Amino acid sequence: MKEILGSHVSFSKEKQMLGSVLEALSYHSTTFMFYTGAPQNTMRYPIDEKLTTLAHNLMEKENINIENVVVHAPYIINLANAKNHDFNVQFLKEEIKRVEKLGVSLLVLHPGSHVGLGTEEGIKNIITALNEAIEENQKVTICLETMAGKGSEIGSHLEELQEILKGVKIPSKVAVCIDTCHLHDAGYDLTDFDAFLKQFDEVIGLSNLLVVHVNDSKNIRESHKDRHANIGYGTIGYEVLSKIVHHPKLKDVPKILETPYIGEGKEKYPPYLFEIEMFDENKWNPNLENDVISHYTTDKNK
Ligand code: FE
Ligand code: FE
Ligand code: ZN
Repeated sequence: MKEILGSHVSFSKEKQMLGSVLEALSYHSTTFMFYTGAPQNTMRYPIDEKLTTLAHNLMEKENINIENVVVHAPYIINLANAKNHDFNVQFLKEEIKRVEKLGVSLLVLHPGSHVGLGTEEGIKNIITALNEAIEENQKVTICLETMAGKGSEIGSHLEELQEILKGVKIPSKVAVCIDTCHLHDAGYDLTDFDAFLKQFDEVIGLSNLLVVHVNDSKNIRESHKDRHANIGYGTIGYEVLSKIVHHPKLKDVPKILETPYIGEGKEKYPPYLFEIEMFDENKWNPNLENDVISHYTTDKNK
């Protein structure tokens, strides 16, 4: 059976979500994730309703369930730091509206970095900001992502996310996204994934796990680095990631690849068609680099 599996795709000003769907289909994806603008800034264009309708029609025709589609909030908004509080809350409110306009219901958000304030203060700030941004009747669920613990990042321990979930006024609108690279870099051992899921269930509750980011890692466990590697080319390895992707308890949870493009300089190509094929066929591809480069340089099918 085909898993709910896709990758990060682009979202351009001209084609918007229609372009995202077409890109996802070119990788044989059954879902996808995108930023509504550049990930590193908060400049956003208005959502075009015509393009959104065209995207919805194409998704229906191609059996992509919009309930499984994910938007990632820009990573520069930092709810843990009270300094830009008003701007952050306002931006998040607008982002929720944009996501709703697109018909998407899952919005992944990095909890933020406490930048020296300390974890407790950071968590307090996150809760305050979420409580101001979230409205009772919104359709969107904010999925807080597990982080690698780089710098002063909050969310490298499940207990920190638990605290945020406990603190928000409308907990039904807040859930969790796990990122395999981040969990590994934070120190979690994914080789016994059932044990991890049990722990997750005890601390957060499995029903709160709504998105999985599937990435290998360039670094050893507990390195707190956050550098993604291609599937089977890192320290987590294909077998462990395959078990996660095909895990029966996660069969309804969308899984998103955020692995690096392959190639040098301007000649860089997405690995997702071939990484998705690995999971579909249940077999690691030792020739990923060659396959990707030859596909995109000999095929016009970009
Ligand atoms: Fe992320
Ligand atoms: Fe991620
Ligand atoms: Zn990452």
